[in-house]
Amino acid sequence: MSLSQVARDLAPSPTLALNEQARLLRLKGEPVIHLGAGEPKNRAPVTALLGAAAKLKEGDIKYTPTEGIPELRKAIVAYTAENYGRIPAPENIIVSNGAKQSVWNLLYTLINPQDEVVILAPYWVSYPEMVKMMYGVPVIVTPEDGGFHPRIQDIEAVIGSYTKAIIVNSPNNPTGVMYSPEFIAQLVELCERKGIWLISDDIYHKLLFDGRKWPSPYKFTTKSLEDTRVISVNGVSKLYGMTGFRVGWVVAPRKLVEIMTNVQGAVTSTTSVVLQAAAASALLGVQGHIEQLRLMLQNNCHVMLNELKTCRGVKCVPPDGTFYCLADFRAYEPNSLKLSKLLLDKARVVAVPGKEFGMEGHLRLSFCGSIKEIKEGVERIKWAVDPEAPNELFIGERKYVRDWL
Ligand code: PMP
Repeated sequence: MSLSQVARDLAPSPTLALNEQARLLRLKGEPVIHLGAGEPKNRAPVTALLGAAAKLKEGDIKYTPTEGIPELRKAIVAYTAENYGRIPAPENIIVSNGAKQSVWNLLYTLINPQDEVVILAPYWVSYPEMVKMMYGVPVIVTPEDGGFHPRIQDIEAVIGSYTKAIIVNSPNNPTGVMYSPEFIAQLVELCERKGIWLISDDIYHKLLFDGRKWPSPYKFTTKSLEDTRVISVNGVSKLYGMTGFRVGWVVAPRKLVEIMTNVQGAVTSTTSVVLQAAAASALLGVQGHIEQLRLMLQNNCHVMLNELKTCRGVKCVPPDGTFYCLADFRAYEPNSLKLSKLLLDKARVVAVPGKEFGMEGHLRLSFCGSIKEIKEGVERIKWAVDPEAPNELFIGERKYVRDWL
């Protein structure tokens, strides 16, 4: 079959593939624990549900302006003013079907074939794949010290005449680490000096723990929204646990938003009006939901870290936020794909291989499920990898015996 080379070369989403395997195992009655999830289990805020219901009741469900309904763009203006310290015009905003599509549209609008995009490892799996879809070149910068915080000199070292953009995701998927304000300031300065776009994927910026404060990248530039090189990406998926609503957005200079609108118009036209109405209602309504979610995640994070401490040899940089941590399992197994497969096959635990995020030897463990799942999940992992752990494990009534170590 003659198919596009770029399409054929795209790696399948590892998280979606694992989800599917877990779903099939569960269908067979297998007691799978999912520590791979990228979404909390909470119900959507009532405000969002009522917003969607009101729109449905109206029955006027049609195309919307490509860049988003005025009500939602106004809500995003207010959100940006409150959280970023900048007041954009509605014309600085374009709404898409999730932040994923926002990043895609943005990259399509920015990149010419051969252009380079700097991506900081560990990174969200979709960034390099999207850059490749645009015939661009992902340039991965990995912290030399094996930690999760990039260094500005390592980034400067890879910048050349083809560098078009740098993508920064802080707090970060998969590590939960938030980059320091000093680093963000240096990055903004570097991008503005060199004329490189700084794409700030802020999708987890409110899910921070233990009083940490997120530094808005706009704080570090004196340039206006029309002149700055900073572009921000955000959405309702993680903020309210509204992943299925598929609403994300970009705040960028008007000229860029205009071109992005043409791109989006040619591809998807609009985001569903029902879901935009839901997102607007969530943004404009009472905000208690975010704090509830944040507190739940903060508590789960502490439980996860305590459980991991009981795993001899496993190291984990404590997350500053999000619902993930990236634990180092090299003491047991350097190959994370092999380890992830072993855990699913033998212990029925889903954990995403670090290799997918550019960090081999690690596993991304998500703590957005229940405390019981976290505790039992880590217990099963210990049993599967640690030869000194008791070699029998009970899952429900069934006894599992370890015979591979
Ligand atoms: N950016 C990052 C870093 C993410 O982790 C995700 C979701 N996994 C997204 C963007 C996309 O979010 P959305 O559901 O809004 O498409």
